[in-house]
Amino acid sequence: MNLSQSINLDHTKKSPRKIILFGAPGAGKGTQTKEICNALSVHAVSTGDMIRQSLKNSTPFEQKMSLYIKAGKLLPDAIIIDLIKERLLTQDCKNGFVLDGFPRTISQAKALENMDVKIDLVISLEIKDSLIIKRMSGRRVCSICGMPYHIVYNKPKVENICDVCGGRLIKRVDDGLSVIKQRLEVYHSLTEPLKDFYRKKRILVSVTAEGDVVETTSLVLKTIGID
Ligand code: AMP
Repeated sequence: MNLSQSINLDHTKKSPRKIILFGAPGAGKGTQTKEICNALSVHAVSTGDMIRQSLKNSTPFEQKMSLYIKAGKLLPDAIIIDLIKERLLTQDCKNGFVLDGFPRTISQAKALENMDVKIDLVISLEIKDSLIIKRMSGRRVCSICGMPYHIVYNKPKVENICDVCGGRLIKRVDDGLSVIKQRLEVYHSLTEPLKDFYRKKRILVSVTAEGDVVETTSLVLKTIGID
């Protein structure tokens, strides 16, 4: 597909700066979000990271939230919408951001439209479920800063240690096989319909994420006009 034609991207204009990175769990959203943020000097807004950070508090509310995550289910829309609204209103999101993991339902997408935020581009990372299941078993994240790694495809410089902050790498509680399958089911039923929602607005671009990290990054950066 000719990406520029499909969404009328004019590369003589400024790069898009308000971006949604969309894709199944394990498609590489976290890794690609960091690449785009570095390239455009904008902030990442990851609902998964925000939730995991707040779960460290372990109040009864957070304990309830962790049950949704451990079961591979989505948190209630109202909670997520409040969380994101507050974050997008902060000064460091004024000039751009990459949304990683939001919106995940049609009602979250509609709520985003009602916030005073105009999304420039939605990038959908495409990858088959069988490859996701294969990849997710090797996925690790930093226990302190949340930086994503993979034991084969995206290794840290020192085994089990985060390159960025020196934190210990761990397997996420929701990366076990049965939870991954549940998360994929939720993705296909509740989140994937968003592709049509954004396709109709002519801001959706699909990028294959089946290659290695370097290949995917190069395709993603091309999509935002950076070669
Ligand atoms: P992620 O790190 O994006 O894969 O998110 C991990 C988990 O956090 C998901 O499986 C959900 O339980 C929860 N979560 C993250 N973002 C959202 C969202 N936009 N709506 C509902 N739940 C979410």
